[in-house]
This record gives sequence, structure tokens and C-alpha cells, in this order.
Amino acid sequence: MENAAAINTKITDKILHDRFTQYGKNAREWLRKCALLLPEIEKREIWRKRGFPNIYEYARILAGMSANAVNDALRILKKAEDKPALQRVIEEKGINAVRPVIAIATSETASFWAEKAREMGKHTLEVYVKEFQKMQQQELEAAGWYIDKTQNNNQSIFRTGTENRQTQALFPEIKTETIQMEINPRTADELRKLKGSGNWDELMQKFIELYKEKLEAEKPEAVRSESRYVPVAIERHALAKTNNTCAFPGCNRPYEILHHTARFSLTHEHNPDALVPLCKAHEQLAHLGLIENEESAPSEWRVRTLRDSAYEKSEKFKIDQKVLKYRANTAPTASGA
Ligand SMILES: [Zn+2]
Repeated sequence: MENAAAINTKITDKILHDRFTQYGKNAREWLRKCALLLPEIEKREIWRKRGFPNIYEYARILAGMSANAVNDALRILKKAEDKPALQRVIEEKGINAVRPVIAIATSETASFWAEKAREMGKHTLEVYVKEFQKMQQQELEAAGWYIDKTQNNNQSIFRTGTENRQTQALFPEIKTETIQMEINPRTADELRKLKGSGNWDELMQKFIELYKEKLEAEKPEAVRSESRYVPVAIERHALAKTNNTCAFPGCNRPYEILHHTARFSLTHEHNPDALVPLCKAHEQLAHLGLIENEESAPSEWRVRTLRDSAYEKSEKFKIDQKVLKYRANTAPTASGA
């Protein structure tokens, strides 16, 4: 009989690759199953009964699990103990799928987060959690609540005194931010001259307005087309608005997808006002229907916690579902997508 190595030299690249992918997928699935057993094994101290010095050695020798993987599994599964909805996601998709939400999910919000963990990739979920926390904080602040971030983990929330709120209303606090820039001394001098006796914010606003006017004046016409291929001039215009970064407020990741905010399949149009560069996570949120005001300027965008019911009845929703399904079925590539 021929040995396995000899057989491997005869098969095609595709079969060789497919086989490896398949085996890898199975290996991961079985490792997931192992991880799920760990809390009970630890509880019953089965490792001791079987002569292992600790659970780490038990898991390493029997399943090739690293100490980190064991700690992770025990920690996350412990937190999911009273959250059956998250436990089901762990069984289906593994521990990593719930990692981004495990710290914020409560027994009341577990089903909400389970649904998000099921429909989003891990990276998108991380981005969503961040946006969600930001939004939550803004809502609390708007309602006169104050989150004490110095109390790590267990965030304490205080209501600011009524007196305090009235003072704030009379003298609205102007929020400022300091940006450090590395620039050529000559540029710095020119900027100081341009600022003169004014302030930096005014000068920057002026530049922003001028740049926007310039882009608007040079804006190419929208093009109706049957081809998804975005004409170069329109692409260049869309990318110039953010200099190739994601357009979502607060996101600084490089753009990966030029996104049609009104969906190309519906409009058959490449409209420079409706094309926005996005990173993969924010593009996925858009197709999940979780970006409010998607068809307005990105500065108006906010993440949603629930999909709008009108959207769920729309053609856009049907298209988005197809896009998500298509993306989920596309094999992962070396870029880890
Ligand atoms: Zn982004």
C-alpha cells in the first residue's frame, strides 16, 4: 500500500488545500467541544483523580490546549453560567464569538448580545460594543448622569446634582481636544501667521470649509450603470473626503470597502454623495441595518441597538441579508476576513 506522503504528491493543489482546510475546521470544532467540558472537569477535579498535577497539564497532554486557552475557557464560561443565550452561541461558534460581549452582558441583556454575537464577526462585534458603550455614556450624560471611569470595571454611576445641571445649562461647557501634530517648522510658522489673533478652532474650521467647497466644486456627476465597477473619478472623490480612512465618526481604520449607502442593486447608480469609504466592521454594521441615518452624511451616523421596522420591510433589507449571507459563505483568506 502506498503511504500517505506518496499519495499527497499525486493529488492536485486544490484537493490538498481543501483537505487541509477541512481537517483544520474539524480540529477547531473538537477543541471547542473540549473547552466546554473544562468547567465541570475542574469542578469535579477529574484531573486529580486521573493523576495529573493540575487542570493545565490535563488539558495540555490530552488535548494540546495551552494554559491561556484553559484560563480563557474557564473565565468566559464562568461568566456565561447564568446566561443560557450566550452559552448557546458558545456551543455553536466557540468562546471567541462571545469574548467581546462577556464583560458587558447581564442576565437581562444576554439574549440581545447573543443575537449580535451570532450575526456579527468577532471584529465587528468589538467595534459595535465600543460604539454601544459610547452611546450609552452619551445618553447617561445627557440625562444628567455621570460615569466615574476611575472605578475600573465596576463603573459607578452618579446623578449630578440639580444645582450643578442648572449651572451647566447657563454656562455650557465647551469641550476641547488637543491634537499633537508633527509638522515642518516652516509649516508651523505659516499656520501661526494664518491663525493670527484668532484661535486654532476657527482656523481649522476655515480650512475644513474651504476643503469641502473645493471637493464640492470638483465633484463628478453621478453615473447610472449596470456595472458595479465605480468609475475612477467618483472613487477618487469619495476617498478624498476621508483621505482613505473609514468614514464612520471616530473610526481611524484604513478604508477597505467603498460602500453604497443606498445600495447599488437598488439604484444602479454610482453617486459620489452616496459612496462612503468604510472599514470592514462598519460596513458589516451598515448591512446589518445598525447604522442610523445611513443615507445622510456620515457625521450624522449613530449605531442602532435595534433594527428599524420600516427597514426590515424594505428591499434594502433583503439585499443586505443577501450580502451578509454571501460574505459569510466566502472562504476565509490569508487576510483573515
Ligand atoms: Zn470603521
